[in-house]
Amino acid sequence: MKRRDFVSDFLVAGTLLHTRGSNMSQQAGPPPQASLPNITEGVFVERSVSGKPHAGKVLAAIQPHTDDIPIFAGGTVAKLVGEGYTGYLIRTTNDEMAGSGTTGQRIWDNERDTEGVAKALGLQKVFNLEYRNHQMDEISRVEMRARLVHLIRLLKIDTIVCYDPWGIYEENPDHYVTAQVVEAACWMAGMDLDYPEQLAAGLQPHAVMEKYYFARGPQIVNRVVDISSWIDRKVEANLANKTQGPCGENGARLRSKLASQKLRLPLLGADDDSANRAYVKNIVLDYDSLSQRGVLSDRELGRRYGLEWAEAFHCIGPRPSLLDRYISEHAVAM
Ligand SMILES: [Zn+2]
Repeated sequence: MKRRDFVSDFLVAGTLLHTRGSNMSQQAGPPPQASLPNITEGVFVERSVSGKPHAGKVLAAIQPHTDDIPIFAGGTVAKLVGEGYTGYLIRTTNDEMAGSGTTGQRIWDNERDTEGVAKALGLQKVFNLEYRNHQMDEISRVEMRARLVHLIRLLKIDTIVCYDPWGIYEENPDHYVTAQVVEAACWMAGMDLDYPEQLAAGLQPHAVMEKYYFARGPQIVNRVVDISSWIDRKVEANLANKTQGPCGENGARLRSKLASQKLRLPLLGADDDSANRAYVKNIVLDYDSLSQRGVLSDRELGRRYGLEWAEAFHCIGPRPSLLDRYISEHAVAM
């Protein structure tokens, strides 16, 4: 494919997926056809697979704040873990700027919620790096990169899910600093000269081979993941965030507020628990908050690809060796 067509496809996909999100009634053109996972061939639709095809592989979901992965990638993380990955959660800030009460109380509440998110998504352990919330643009990126390289080598992380370091109009420094440092750490962890003290301590070079990047604004999208089988797990992960995020107890609060006005939304059900679940699934992930940010809701994105629920990513996988391909095509027996 010519480069011009290649770029055009990307821009069309990005526009289709994002800028129309604020107008749910607008008709989209036909979605790009599912194709092989090759970025020159448009958007690849990743579907659920049976069995444990990822057994033996390791995934890290990396987020600045406890609500990031649940909102934008919770279904995909749950899917990949369900298909065999061993998963870990890395949170880069201490989340001190979200919640109520004292600073210490907010830090504790968010730490507790993060453990709940990990449990809901089937992740085995949480690593909290504890950088100051909203202050990550002042940190030493080199120090943070060394910590991430250490974790990638120690845990032998093959795949990461994180904010897109190239997503545009991202205003939160915690988001873009985390994404940029993660991207550098992913390849540097595979080098055999960087951080020799880690190698002397017994770790081996280990590069991250696959990256799922999500964004809360316009982004080059080349993968749509079918999360229909995992939507309830995603709802659980969002419900675990009681201190921040658009979920928590908001369903019960809305139900109570409407009752005070002698009103009722049938979809919120008959009690607080069903109201909270319905609020996450049918309002946050379907109708309301994501589309307000200019990103399609999971439900609307799914509709455009003939799926029930979906999440969007810029996915970067292993790059095949052109030399190996040339050799296989041209080498002759001696
Ligand atoms: Zn965040």
